Amino acid sequence: MSNETLQAVRGMNDILPEESELWLWFEQVVRDWLAAYGYRNIRMPLVEPTSLFKRAIGEVTDIVEKEMYSFEDSLNGDQLTLRPEGTASCVRAVLQHNLLYNAPQRLYYSGPMFRHERPQKGRYRQFHQVGVEALGFAGPDIDAEQIMMCARLWKKLGIRDVTLQLNTLGDAASRQRHRTKLIAYFEQHLAVLDAEAQRRLHSNPLRILDSKNPAMQAVIEAAPQLMDELDSEALAHFASVQAILTRHEIAFEINPRLVRGLDYYNRTVFEWVTTRLGAQGTICAGGRYDGLIEQIGGKPAPAMGFAMGVERLLVLLQEAGMPLPKPKVDVYIVHQCELAAILASRVAEQLRDTDMRVLMHCGGGSFKSQMKKADASGAIVSVVIGDDEALANEVSVKPMRGGEQIRVCVQELTATINKFILQE
Ligand code: ATP
Ligand code: MG
Repeated sequence: MSNETLQAVRGMNDILPEESELWLWFEQVVRDWLAAYGYRNIRMPLVEPTSLFKRAIGEVTDIVEKEMYSFEDSLNGDQLTLRPEGTASCVRAVLQHNLLYNAPQRLYYSGPMFRHERPQKGRYRQFHQVGVEALGFAGPDIDAEQIMMCARLWKKLGIRDVTLQLNTLGDAASRQRHRTKLIAYFEQHLAVLDAEAQRRLHSNPLRILDSKNPAMQAVIEAAPQLMDELDSEALAHFASVQAILTRHEIAFEINPRLVRGLDYYNRTVFEWVTTRLGAQGTICAGGRYDGLIEQIGGKPAPAMGFAMGVERLLVLLQEAGMPLPKPKVDVYIVHQCELAAILASRVAEQLRDTDMRVLMHCGGGSFKSQMKKADASGAIVSVVIGDDEALANEVSVKPMRGGEQIRVCVQELTATINKFILQE
C-alpha cells in the first residue's frame, strides 16, 4: 500500500469549519426565505436509476451525454447515477408518493449534485444547489412569484450586480414548427456548424442556439426565432409574467437565445446572471416544465421551478464583503487538578441547561496557557476553577473584555454569567 497522502476527488471540495460558518448562515437565511413563501422541504436520495435522468433531462443534453456519474450496482447489476440535478428526483418522489393527489405542492430541497465537468472557479464536480419547485400550478402568477422570490433573496443576502434574463420557449406545437424551420435553416449553413452542432442538428437543434462557438455566432444570430412561432396562449402567458414583474419593479431583459441546458422546459425560462464570476456567471436558473410530470409517468400536471448554485452565490457574498460570522462562545472553563475537573464538567453542563455555549478546556496545561486559549476563543467570560475553589464549591468568573474577576458560589453562577452576557 502506498503511503502518499490521500486527496479528495478532483472537483470535489471539503468545506472547512471557517467557510462552513458562512454556509450555515446562508442556509438559515434560505430556510427563512422559503418559509416566507410557504415552500416545504423534501429530501431525495443522492442516487437514482440512470433511466430517470435519461427520461427527464433528455438523451441529447450535455448532462446526459457527458456529465453523469453513472455506474452499475455490482451486487444486482442495476444502472445507477449520482444525481446531476434535483428536479427529476423531486418529481419522481412526488409521483411515487402521490403528493399531487389533491393539492398543488410548493417544495424545496438542497444538497450536493454531481456532474463530470472540467473543474474551475465556480464549476465543480460535486457542487450544491438549492432547488425550488411548484408542482400543479399552471398560471403565470407562480412564474412571477418564483422570480420575485429570487429578487428578495438577493436583497436579503446583500447581493448586487445580478440581472434577470427572461425568455419563453412556447409550447410543444410551436416548438415543433420552430424545430422544423431551424433544421432546414442550419442545413443550409452546414459548413459553418462545428462537429457538435452537426451531430445535434437532427436530434436537438435548439441546443445549437446555446453554442458558445464564436465562429457560429453570426449564423445563430440570424436563425429563425421561436418567438415568431408562438401561439396566442403562450404569448399571453409570457405577457402576464412580464406585467407582474413590471408591477413589482423587477427589471428584466428578454433574451430570445436563452434556451436552458435541459430539455424539459417550456414557456417561461429565466436566469439570474452576474458579470462578477467570469464565464460561470449564472447563479440561478429555472423555468416552467409542464410536460415533465407526464414524461416521468404521472398524470399530466403543470410545474415551475428553479435552482441556485450555492458555491457561486457564496463567492458573490464574500465579494460583497459579507463579514464571516464567527462561532459564538459564551463561556470558557479553565480548571486545574482532579477535584476542579469534576466541578468544571458539572458546571459546564449546568450552564448548557440554560442554552449557553460553553467551551470546556480539555487537555490540561498551566492556568496561563489555558487562559490564552480562553482569550482566543472569543468567550464573553471565563470560569476559573482551582482546587481552592473546588473545595469551597465556588468558582471565579473573569469577564474577558475587561473588569474585575469575582468569586461566586456554584448556585449563583448562571445568574452572574447572564448579567455579563446581557451587557454584551
Ligand atoms: P452552466 O451553463 O454554468 O453549465 P447549467 O445550465 O448547466 O449551468 P443548471 O443545470 O441550470 O446549470 O443548474 C443551476 C445552477 O447550478 C447554475 O446556474 C449554476 O449556478 C449551478 N451549477 C451548475 N453546474 C455547476 C457546477 N458544475 N459547479 C457549480 N455550480 C454549478
Ligand atoms: Mg452545465
